[in-house]
Amino acid sequence: MQQFKVQDGILHGATQIASPNFNERPVNTEIQLIVIHNISLPPSQFGGGYIQRFFQNQLDWTIHPYFQTIEGMQVSAHLLILRTGEVIQFVNFNDRSWHAGRSSYLAQKECNDYSIGIELEGSDDLPFEPEQYQSLAEVVKTLRQTYPKIQNHIAGHSDIAPKRKTDPGLYFDWQLFRQLLSEKTSTDL
Ligand SMILES: [Zn+2]
Repeated sequence: MQQFKVQDGILHGATQIASPNFNERPVNTEIQLIVIHNISLPPSQFGGGYIQRFFQNQLDWTIHPYFQTIEGMQVSAHLLILRTGEVIQFVNFNDRSWHAGRSSYLAQKECNDYSIGIELEGSDDLPFEPEQYQSLAEVVKTLRQTYPKIQNHIAGHSDIAPKRKTDPGLYFDWQLFRQLLSEKTSTDL
């Protein structure tokens, strides 16, 4: 099992690809939430590297009709977990990634200010891979140790922007994820 470690906002154990789509978190803002998303480009198709290019503002909008509907959007996530379980970091955790949009968690608005965004390569219509749950649990465990204010503040995008967003979707197995998280946490203590 892959071991992760955070140093200066960098997740060691993850592949690093830089996205320009970030800015500074507001002063004195502590990381206290993890937001889970899904994304696939084109929708429900996996592989191809299009998400990576999208987050780098390097996607060729002409090669698929769907890409034209997202043309020019500047978004990112701190992390993307591919179907294989590989983890890619696009934005330093100390910086504010643009993943949540207008949002609110426990009456606190603008979740991008104080959250870490994790995208799973997937869609609302298909199950996620076991390798993705494993990586997600490992990563979240590491993040909670690094940023203790997170505690159990882990939400889906649909929880913080319910009128706009449906991801990570009904196929995301929260029970399995929580179970893996508690197993991993207890064996390591
Ligand atoms: Zn999302």
